[in-house]
Amino acid sequence: MKKILFLVTFFYQFFAFGQFALDTIETSQGRMIIYSDRTWELVSDIGFDGVLNEQIYNRFSNDTLLNFVQTWDNEVCFTSEKVNDLSKLKDTVWLCLGDSIHSKFIMPFDGYVTSRYGYRKGRYHNGIDINLNTGDTVRSCWSGKVRYAKWNDGGFGNLVIVRHYNGLETFYAHLSKLMVAPNTEVKAGDVIGLGGNTGRSRGSHLHFEVRFYDAPINPEEIIDVATKNVKDQNLFVHKGIFRPGAKPTDYYSTSDEHGEAVAIVTKPVTSTKKYYKVKAGDTLSEIAGKNRTTISKICQLNGIRQTTTIQIGRSLRVK
Ligand SMILES: [Zn+2]
Repeated sequence: MKKILFLVTFFYQFFAFGQFALDTIETSQGRMIIYSDRTWELVSDIGFDGVLNEQIYNRFSNDTLLNFVQTWDNEVCFTSEKVNDLSKLKDTVWLCLGDSIHSKFIMPFDGYVTSRYGYRKGRYHNGIDINLNTGDTVRSCWSGKVRYAKWNDGGFGNLVIVRHYNGLETFYAHLSKLMVAPNTEVKAGDVIGLGGNTGRSRGSHLHFEVRFYDAPINPEEIIDVATKNVKDQNLFVHKGIFRPGAKPTDYYSTSDEHGEAVAIVTKPVTSTKKYYKVKAGDTLSEIAGKNRTTISKICQLNGIRQTTTIQIGRSLRVK
């Protein structure tokens, strides 16, 4: 029976380029429909209102001046109906990137950055591009709930969006395959898709975005790609973090310069910093020798002079 089903599925996909429901399963989170192309979706998720971070939600839902909107919608990338204007934010909002339960952070993919966040030839690049090969596993960087997992016509291709307990959402675009269904819980490091080259993309890569109430934040403000960790467990969200001067409509641009970005490959981002803890009797020339560097380089890296007395126990940067 399974073989026949497989053949029928294969035949259908091969000749019709379409998808149809193969099976439906009742789960605690709703009815799961499994499609012929092995994607699936949850039809209903009774009782979930999209709020994973009560404090942030309460902070904004009561503020009638800001009037920020954030809903739970599996069909659209942006749930604010494009009305959130983060440049109106007067206060600083503290986000704890990892509480005791959801503290873990995992790089979505361990590759180097080929294109950074920022302005490119009249357009905004709302995330960073990470080099990968089609089929490489892409992981959710924090725990949360999958808000969106489907094809996107706006240029993202196959796109997964995860809403996190810390108040942020992350976007994973151009995937070759979706490995999660909307409304399902994910933990940091769970595989959510396979890397690819779908949508407005020329060359396999992961386009990764971090957003707060739909507005993009430079992922490298939060994440240190070299150390593969968050820079700080505390993120202070204020209007300056949202690209001063950018129009709110720029937040929703899905246009990228991917072809160009992949062509200008920057050097791999790796940590080259190295430190040496000073012991009793050490001299600068010995330290330089041990670490295959020069005295003047050590002085330059640490802002010291050759004549400076160095305390025992001090960490000197040697590379
Ligand atoms: Zn990109």
